[in-house]
Amino acid sequence: MAEKPCQCDDCQRFYKEHDRLIREFPTFKQQQELNWASIQSFRTLCSKVTDELQRELSERASNKNISQEDNHISDIEITEALDELDSVNAYLYAVEALMEKIFDTKISNNIELKFKEIAKELAPDPLNVDRLILNRLFHQTPDYPDKKNIN
Ligand SMILES: [Zn+2]
Repeated sequence: MAEKPCQCDDCQRFYKEHDRLIREFPTFKQQQELNWASIQSFRTLCSKVTDELQRELSERASNKNISQEDNHISDIEITEALDELDSVNAYLYAVEALMEKIFDTKISNNIELKFKEIAKELAPDPLNVDRLILNRLFHQTPDYPDKKNIN
């Protein structure tokens, strides 16, 4: 007996986002670019925050007279976050190295069409009326590559 996928709020948000990313980035190339940009932006943000926290911590060390009440983030909190972010930055660096390998792959236009076709099946947008109309037009067009699958 197959188990039903979890329907909690977090999971539902994940399914929605998962499908949206397929729907809005339906080609191999778009997925490459999306994931590359996503890793890069995550890495940029994490390292900027790390730099900022390190700067703040060393500033506090050299300005002992600043009262603790002025600091809404505690030293311990910063130190702990720096440890965590250090690992995250290392993992992201490793993921980036793997993404570079994936980025080297090129896919032919015919295979890209296959990606688009499968993306439509995986993540149709039932609420998008324009898309429904467009899909119907495509299916009525004799030279549309999907035509052979309708009969
Ligand atoms: Zn869940």
